[in-house]
Formats: sequence, structure tokens, C-alpha cells
Amino acid sequence: MAKYGMVIDCNKCNGCYNCFLTCRDEFAGNEYPGYAAAQPMAGQNWIRVIERERGRYPKVKVSYYPVTCAQCEDAPCIKAAENNAVYRRPDGIVIIDPVKARGQKQIVLACPYRVIDWNEELQVPQKCLLCAHMLDRGEKEPRCVESCPTGALVFGDMDDPNSAISRLLAKSKTEVLHPEYGLEEKVRYISLPRRFVAGTVIYGDKDECAGGVEVTLSHDGKTQKTTTNGFGDFEFEGLAADMEYTLKIAAKGYKPQELKALTKVDVYLGEIVL
Ligand code: SF4
Ligand code: SF4
Repeated sequence: MAKYGMVIDCNKCNGCYNCFLTCRDEFAGNEYPGYAAAQPMAGQNWIRVIERERGRYPKVKVSYYPVTCAQCEDAPCIKAAENNAVYRRPDGIVIIDPVKARGQKQIVLACPYRVIDWNEELQVPQKCLLCAHMLDRGEKEPRCVESCPTGALVFGDMDDPNSAISRLLAKSKTEVLHPEYGLEEKVRYISLPRRFVAGTVIYGDKDECAGGVEVTLSHDGKTQKTTTNGFGDFEFEGLAADMEYTLKIAAKGYKPQELKALTKVDVYLGEIVL
């Protein structure tokens, strides 16, 4: 039996919203008996794209990543449901039974990811079901995965070592969105946005961008190095939040500089004059 999951590569997500739109196209106004009641025509997002603006002028960027039901192995929504109204299939997909779950609003509140919507008209909780109705008729992927133009969403059998998702998991560092929940989630992420530290190095005597200058970032005995580009810019991505990092900037013939960066937010150090 397959064990389905999804990997979301945030490096590849460009915020196009195709996943959201195709999900709406599949479920809004369409009922799939045994799988899902019809989604209302407005107000529900079973996959939502988070847009995070980062940094400050002139170093500003936007990171995107979609959030959907994490298909938890240890799912609070299953525990909160009465009458087995929420259950995990042998392939790992967590389903809200659209008939048994009627009137059970407590299921919405049980999900710490807040990915269950309440259908006021039908009085039923609803969420992503990884297009189980399509998989059961022989389709290979949910609609959102099919429609993603960049390959940011990879779906498949995590128990099959030859599946694309298993190969990706084997070679990538992945994590769940909220490890603190400890729910053994089957939706995992590559490169969730964290913090960056960036700056621009200038040769003060020549009033020129300092390209090719080595910049070293260190914290707690661990170091990373990079080199400024032709505009004197450098950037370290994927750093931990709320840490103090030390930066050393060294160029031949110039006095080395040492700076501190506290990653409460993304940090742009501005122009650093050698
Ligand atoms: S993310 Fe929420 S809705 Fe999905 S399985 Fe986990 S607890 Fe249930
Ligand atoms: S379809 Fe793909 S690239 Fe577009 S928002 Fe969704 S995950 Fe990101």
C-alpha cells in the first residue's frame, strides 16, 4: 500500500496561485460523495499561498510558500471527531467524512495548522484531501501538483524508494512547517524562508563597489563564507531567527571590518566602507 505525502520546494514557488485556483476549480460547487461536500463559491482556501515580504529598501524580496493540510500521522482532527467522522486511509490521506462530520464544528478548532474551513451552509468542516477521489480513479497526482508550473509541489508514495518524492526526500534537507506540533506531518518543505543577512561593500578611497571581497559569517563556532558580486553585494540566506552573527570582511590592502547582525528580522547592513 502506498503512503502518500507531498514535498513543497519554496525555492521554486513563485506565488502564481495556480495551485489555489485549480483546487477551487476542482471543489467549488462540486460534490464528491464519500470524499467531500461541495466547497462554497467563496471563502474557502484548501491550499493557500503565503506571501512574505522580507528585508528593507534597497534589499527587499518576497518569499512564497503554500500551506495545506499536512496529512498528520498523529492528527488532532481525527481525535476531535465523533463517530469516526475523520479518519486516515491506509494510504495515509486524512479524510473528513462529509456526512458523518455534519454539525461537528469542534473539528475545525482541533487543527493547529488552521487548514479546516467551516461550510456554514452545509454545516460541515472541509479541507484538502489530496484529491483522493482522483487518485482512486487512477490519476497520479492531485490537481494542485499537476498545475504547478515550476515543479514546486512533488507528490507521491513515500514508501516507494523509486518514486520522485522518495528520491527528493533522500537528497534534500526537508522539514515540516511546525515541528513544535509533533504531528508526524506528511507534507514537508524545502527551504522555508528564514532570515537573511546582506550588505554592500564599497572601497572608500576609490568610491567604487568592492567586488570579489570575501565575507565570513560566524555563530557559535560555525562559519560560512561568500564573496561580494560585481556591485559589492553579499547575502547569507536561511539563517536562524533571533541569533547574533559576526561578519568579517577582508580585502587585500584594506583594514578588515567586523560587524554584528541580530536576526530578529532580515538584516540589510547597508553600505560597508573599507
Ligand atoms: S493538518 Fe490539521 S486537518 Fe490536516 S491532518 Fe493535521 S490536524 Fe488534521
Ligand atoms: S502553483 Fe506552484 S509556483 Fe504557483 S503558487 Fe502554487 S506552489 Fe507556488
